Amino acid sequence: MSRALELLGPDGPLAAALERYEARPGQLAMARGVERALASDRIFLCEAGTGTGKTLAYLLPALLSGRRVVISTATRALQEQIVAKDLPLLAGALGVDPRATLVKGLGNYLCLRRYDEFRRSLEVDAPHRSAALAALDAFRETSQSGDLGDLASLEEGDPVRLSVQSSSETRRGAECHHYDACFVTRMRREAEGARIIVVNHHLFFADLALRGPHPGRVLPDYDAVIFDEAHQIEDVATTFFGVRVSESRFEHLLGDLERSAAGPPGLGGQSGPGVIAIARQTQETAAKLFQCLRSAAKVGDGRVRMDAEVWAGETLALYHRLDGHLEGLGAAASALSGTLASGQDSGSARQGAARSDGLYLAARRVQTLRDDLATIVEGSPGRITWAELGTRAAALTSSPVDVSTILRERIFESIPSVVLTSATLASGKSTSAEAFSYVRARLGLDRGRAAEATEELVVESPFDYGEKALLYLPKDLPEPTDAGFTERAIERTADLVRLTDGGCFVLSTSIRGMKALHRGLGQRLRGRLLLVQGQASKASLIADFRTDRRAVLVATMSFWQGVDVPGDALRLVVIDRIPFPVPSDPLFQARGEALEAQGGSPFKELAVPIARMTLKQGFGRLIRSEGDDGVVALLDGRVHRKGYGRLVLSGLPPAAQTTDIEEVRRFWERRGPGAIR
Ligand code: SF4
Repeated sequence: MSRALELLGPDGPLAAALERYEARPGQLAMARGVERALASDRIFLCEAGTGTGKTLAYLLPALLSGRRVVISTATRALQEQIVAKDLPLLAGALGVDPRATLVKGLGNYLCLRRYDEFRRSLEVDAPHRSAALAALDAFRETSQSGDLGDLASLEEGDPVRLSVQSSSETRRGAECHHYDACFVTRMRREAEGARIIVVNHHLFFADLALRGPHPGRVLPDYDAVIFDEAHQIEDVATTFFGVRVSESRFEHLLGDLERSAAGPPGLGGQSGPGVIAIARQTQETAAKLFQCLRSAAKVGDGRVRMDAEVWAGETLALYHRLDGHLEGLGAAASALSGTLASGQDSGSARQGAARSDGLYLAARRVQTLRDDLATIVEGSPGRITWAELGTRAAALTSSPVDVSTILRERIFESIPSVVLTSATLASGKSTSAEAFSYVRARLGLDRGRAAEATEELVVESPFDYGEKALLYLPKDLPEPTDAGFTERAIERTADLVRLTDGGCFVLSTSIRGMKALHRGLGQRLRGRLLLVQGQASKASLIADFRTDRRAVLVATMSFWQGVDVPGDALRLVVIDRIPFPVPSDPLFQARGEALEAQGGSPFKELAVPIARMTLKQGFGRLIRSEGDDGVVALLDGRVHRKGYGRLVLSGLPPAAQTTDIEEVRRFWERRGPGAIR
């Protein structure tokens, strides 16, 4: 018998150690698949419905494999659950040492070099910084891990935190004067001694993109990787194999550079003013370039494709001027770094060496920024350039249109064992040979070694959806493209909210839809807590929603997945439209064009599978644990009227369906008010 089966089975140590432990056939099947993949260098693709117990199903074989396994998840909550709860539980039941560690992105750790530099800068004299600085000083003295997440008073995005956190760009590596005492060095050493390394997808792909002797790399070599929430990896890989130049990237780089160039008052720094002058010219020209692009694009906060024609006339002239400044800045920063390192500048040797390090890194960052801008402006085959040019933030991005080749080469043909799992991975009928055809094509699993070495499994959720959930699909609302749709959708949502007395997520496919729903529901549902995405952090919105049993939360895409509200607090999910990708989205367009060029259909092979998986994610918010029940409403009548309607719905769990709101009322009455199972 497989070792995993023996341990997870009804007579195993887990059953003996845990009260209410239940051996689940789906979980056992998945554990066997993971075990085979790890033992025989294979790839395992597994869709595991909610409630399968998939975390234990991959952790146990990973623990037993004796190999170094990286576990990559989408959310911090899941990483913490694995390290703080699941692994100790398994290790305790089995009597083994898990040798596991959690590795966070570099931005979570305090960089001692940057901290010292910041401490010496004039900025520390600003009175509004004094509280943050006092907290940071105490943290630097007492923290064992350097994890800035433990410093609650310094939120992500705080300018002080941005000035002292580590990053692949600002990391000096072994030549750094702080290298031995450095928190990142300590974390890397821990990872080298670990068997199980838990990371998030962002860190995994950032590390993968830097493979080689780069000081920003944090993961040691590993034998296997297990991706949980694997449906997100195409998007994350697109980000990390792309390049992005934002206005804030200029601001941070030039701010750091000025800090190093200026030096402490009265100590050295006489060669700095020249560098500072060029940095300021660079900043001005960058601001002009973004302003010019903003007026040319007129897109507000959306994404816009940047064709080659954008780079002409004034924009091109500004780009060339900016490139010239960057070239001059890199050379000046490098020269000053050299002068300081050789001790020719006045000031103490230690100060000079620290400034030299800062300038050396800044010069390296200037060169990378220059290269990235050139990639964006000149374009390159297989990439698309797009921009977000909002009033508050602006960025230019060059993304690979297709990441399947990169993933195939860097993951599936390079890492011996790979497991991909999620509650939404299959795009066809779970029993059909095509169940995973979409994900295979998108991730490059349909070619080369992966085509042969991949095993597939769909594990249905053990929850009784027929009994616990009702899918309401009204037929009487106008088409979502009709002018009257929003008003009728608001009315119907309000009716449903009254019926369940709240406990409702309203999920919209667009920001505009979300705002209209929020406004309309505000007028109809007075006296009820109505929350909307963006009014507070995601965590605080969810906390408020949980506390107030009658609340309604209106949100868009970031609440469709990774949000877990088990129990009675969430009993109604209303979805306004089928979640097709936005047709004007530059990446979606470019991917569609690439498919068309190969004779494929962008609608059937891209838009429908994406909608099907996203809808399944949205539906999945409702039932998170055994006792949950409730209603999902999809207000988009195209599921009845269009040929693709059945296909889009076919991925959903087997809940009973109705088109009649009276049937929803009866379902709710049978359930009984305030039932908490
Ligand atoms: S080694 Fe890197 S992260 Fe550590 S203190 Fe030096 S620059 Fe900062």
